[in-house]
Amino acid sequence: MAELATIDDLLAGLNSQQRTAATHGEGPLLIVAGAGTGKTATLVHRVAWLIAGGVDPSRILLLTFTRRAAAEMLRRAEILLHRLGHPGAGRVWGGTYHAIATRLLHRYGKAIGLPPDFAVHDRADSEDLMNVVRTDLNLAKTDKRFPKKGTCMAIYSRAVNAREKLESVLENHFPWCEDWREELKLLFNGYVDRKEAAGVLDYDDLLLYWHALLNDEAASAESPRLQPGPLPKGEGKKRVGDVVRGLFDCILIDEFQDTNTLQAEILYALSPEGKGLTVVGDDAQSIYAFRAATVRNILDFPKHYPGATIVTLEQNYRSTEPILDATNQVIALARERYTKNLWSERTEGQRPVLVNCEDDGDQATYVIRRILEHREAGIDLRRQAVLFRASHHSILLEAELARANIPFHKYGGLKFIETAHVKDLMAFLRLAENPRDMVAGSRLLPLLPGVGPGKARQLMDALLAAGGNFDVWADWRPPAAAATLWPKFVSLLKSLVRTADELPVQLNRVRKFYAPLLEGKYDHVEPRLRDLEQLELIASRYRNRARMLLEMTLDPPSSTQDLAGPPQLDDDYLVLSTIHSAKGLEWDAVYVIHAADGNIPSDMATKNPEEIEEERRLFYVALTRAKNWLYVCYPLRYYYPGRSDRHTFAQRTRFLPSALLHCFDQCVPETPDAGDDGADGCSACDASRQVRRRIRELWG
Ligand code: ATP
Ligand code: MG
Repeated sequence: MAELATIDDLLAGLNSQQRTAATHGEGPLLIVAGAGTGKTATLVHRVAWLIAGGVDPSRILLLTFTRRAAAEMLRRAEILLHRLGHPGAGRVWGGTYHAIATRLLHRYGKAIGLPPDFAVHDRADSEDLMNVVRTDLNLAKTDKRFPKKGTCMAIYSRAVNAREKLESVLENHFPWCEDWREELKLLFNGYVDRKEAAGVLDYDDLLLYWHALLNDEAASAESPRLQPGPLPKGEGKKRVGDVVRGLFDCILIDEFQDTNTLQAEILYALSPEGKGLTVVGDDAQSIYAFRAATVRNILDFPKHYPGATIVTLEQNYRSTEPILDATNQVIALARERYTKNLWSERTEGQRPVLVNCEDDGDQATYVIRRILEHREAGIDLRRQAVLFRASHHSILLEAELARANIPFHKYGGLKFIETAHVKDLMAFLRLAENPRDMVAGSRLLPLLPGVGPGKARQLMDALLAAGGNFDVWADWRPPAAAATLWPKFVSLLKSLVRTADELPVQLNRVRKFYAPLLEGKYDHVEPRLRDLEQLELIASRYRNRARMLLEMTLDPPSSTQDLAGPPQLDDDYLVLSTIHSAKGLEWDAVYVIHAADGNIPSDMATKNPEEIEEERRLFYVALTRAKNWLYVCYPLRYYYPGRSDRHTFAQRTRFLPSALLHCFDQCVPETPDAGDDGADGCSACDASRQVRRRIRELWG
């Protein structure tokens, strides 16, 4: 039997600062350090060290930015623990703020008057509900254009998450909406009422109620309609805030720079003394200020927890020195920054390549050629990623990858669950689960021929008044076009409400009813139908319908592949990702595309210097994902077919001014069809071409 490792063996892989952090005692600890310095790795070791030292895993809370990140960190902690012969980290509470809030509120929400069966609305549903109220109040029909549903939701959400008054949110972030202040107040009140009537919480509510739970706010002024209920057995005498606080001995948070004020307040209430608290972050990578995140949470940590230990890390283990040279200089141009320049022991390596392409098509050709070269040289597709600012920036590349038979997996942008046909299908389940769900009803009813939004609204109101009993719909005489479908529709919903059938059986019934409607409504019917079949196949994995709806909302899968679970070991696919979704990750080769002004910084985010600075940090996040090869591409021209001004010229991103060009090898691909051995005019490309040639020579 192999000899077991000791905890010292496990920590031997860390440098001395990392080890200090991983083995820190009970006091509050802040690790503030730049990209790739091993912050996440240190947290993983700390979790393992705590458990190995006797902390009960079920009393550890690990908060991360995505569920995937939490799962990956715990998987790595598990491996470390197994080497020690320890049973593992299985019962750690790991997940996003929203997922943990949901879990706690299901267990303890009753104590602050929350119904145990609440449903959760994702951001798109919340916007749709906001729109219902906006229409109700006739705000959509005003002479001057009233803000759209997405803007209304952004204003509402910022006020909640930044704990700011509406007036100041408008003045500081949405000055063009200031004239609508009174109407917005009306709208937001109506929205809160609607949510309550439908028995749903939105993402912001999850945080607000978690905060209320910790502060024993049952039936307080902030939530006057709440009726407190009993605590779970055995915890009856204590205040619920103390019960929740008492659940955890250790709290660890990654990516703390991207948390907002409300999340920080939750943390302060959860851990008033900071005992067992570790937070980790990098102010230079703060990229969610547009969603009210604030680096103040990192900067104020030592003020909030006087005596907190601060550990900084400066050695980068991810990237080669030539790549770090470039990224250090990019972030050095930021107006404000606290973390320092990074260094690496990996001094050798290819300099980053700046690629000036003719147009979008050339860019795709160039990137695909380099990807294939790297793959031939032994760098699997999964070790390579193409990153971009906005989801639509990869459309042409996706088409070219498909043509070249290169499998890829896209993260960020529109998620699988946000596609119209999947939303339709899920709306059947949602309405059966919660007949008060106005958004689901307003989506479903107009699928039937002859039922418009106005009629849908009336039918939903009638259903609400009837306490969610679908019999009330049986009496309605639909227009001729829906005459045969309507009774089937009502009986389908009724059968779903009562059903004891397995989830795949329920989905099958819905799919059979819905498929003909889908065919009449959308193009690309075949792949859409396949998505629905796929959904049916994986449905058995969920405990029940409510669980499936909740998990899909809190952690929406990006694609059907994502739904199918982690990829098989022999699956190889390229990663395409928005920069936001690439946070915390790393690849051997990274291609940043569309690095042109207008794309990064995005035209939508150049209203003020703060927004531009956030775009700079975003660019920095993209570049710092690369371990060994970094390519930054920007097309010179953008074509607009069918327009008189057929193309515009693009400028290289302002975040790479001329003074920084010395950090890059520059490359101008000659022609899109230069052929395998076409010269691209840069040494890096020549080098990889030589590797490829040598590999070919091996086989004669
Ligand atoms: P980011 O800011 O991008 O989230 P990070 O600071 O969390 O980065 P990690 O992802 O933890 O950094 O680590 C970056 C890479 O460096 C990983 O591949 C990790 O395994 C490696 N690494 C971290 N610490 C060490 C170490 N002491 N020795 C060798 N490799 C290390
Ligand atoms: Mg990290």
